[in-house]
Amino acid sequence: MNAICAAGLVPLHAKLTLKMDDLYPPQFSLYHGAKRLTMSARDLSRDRLECIFKVEPDSLYLEDDITRETFFPDHSGQFQTTLMRDRGSFAVSGTSKEQVLTPVAGPSTPLSCRPKGTPAFTHPSNTFQNPLRRAKSARKQIYVADIEDSGKISPYTTVHVTISEGQGVQAVGQTVQEYLNSADSYSICDAKGLAIADTSETKDLEFWKTSSRKVYAIRTADLAKLKMGRVESASKKKRVDPEENEVLDGLLDVELEIKNSASKLAENIDEKFNELTISVNHIKANVLQVVQQIDGLAEVKEKVSQVSKSLSIASSLRDALACRICTNIPNSVLVITACCGQVAGCGTCIQTYLNDNDSCLLCKANMFAGKLVFLRGLSEVLAKLTNAVI
Ligand SMILES: [Zn+2]
Ligand SMILES: [Zn+2]
Repeated sequence: MNAICAAGLVPLHAKLTLKMDDLYPPQFSLYHGAKRLTMSARDLSRDRLECIFKVEPDSLYLEDDITRETFFPDHSGQFQTTLMRDRGSFAVSGTSKEQVLTPVAGPSTPLSCRPKGTPAFTHPSNTFQNPLRRAKSARKQIYVADIEDSGKISPYTTVHVTISEGQGVQAVGQTVQEYLNSADSYSICDAKGLAIADTSETKDLEFWKTSSRKVYAIRTADLAKLKMGRVESASKKKRVDPEENEVLDGLLDVELEIKNSASKLAENIDEKFNELTISVNHIKANVLQVVQQIDGLAEVKEKVSQVSKSLSIASSLRDALACRICTNIPNSVLVITACCGQVAGCGTCIQTYLNDNDSCLLCKANMFAGKLVFLRGLSEVLAKLTNAVI
């Protein structure tokens, strides 16, 4: 990092931020032990810090309180303040002189702590960040990285870029290029090497103020190679047009999901179909039984109808043949009247009737005894028929 710092960053940065620095010269809050003071960029030299904070010059370095980045003085004893967080708080680290130095007699330190004509420092309370300036710009740490042969992104330094409201990714890339004093253009990307595009989101300062978002700067040509490499290796696997690769990846995923869903659905349908087939077979068997039962019922009905007909015949026969006196079916002799042509009754009942009467018991005709027909054979047949039917 230091090698790059020494490669002429100061003049470039000075050129870039001239106007801003005139208005708000970069300042850094430094502390060591209980001592804290704010220093301007030009005061940041190893000799001055050694003098103020009493730290061994060879061990002296600065550490950013927030990013934990460390900054060492260059060969001339100057710190590359362009890489340091403007208005950040830095610990002055190193071996304290007070612990290692043995007291010496004579005049105090020969070094002048204060360059002539410049104020020693201003109190931190007077140098609070200007809220207006904060609102219009953001300071972002950009990781400058190379791409290894394996495709791994390997950061080798960081650059702190002041980004103005509305300034896009391209401008940030240009700033990085100028900071690094490089002939190559730089593209801004994420940790995976995916280029960050100029969008309304990236033009918003909130994007750059998100401290959890790591932003990388990689040579545009290297990034393009990385992209091509990825696309080639992907297309070797799938033999598709590299341009469509990403879309196809998504489509293949979707296709796989659909295939899985379809095969599950087919399984479910098979299962349901089997269940249905079993149910239908059950129903068929039941229906067959019912049909058979209905057939049986028809037979029964027919029989019932026959029986009821027989019963009706029997009943008619019974009515026609019943004895008018005892109402029984005559079981030995059936007596029929010649006067009115009807069944009169059984032989015994009619004999008993004739003992006291001479007129027909039905039509009241005289000489009843002479008008009777006694049927012997027929009455037995009738009795047999009646029994069979009933
Ligand atoms: Zn009669
Ligand atoms: Zn009778």
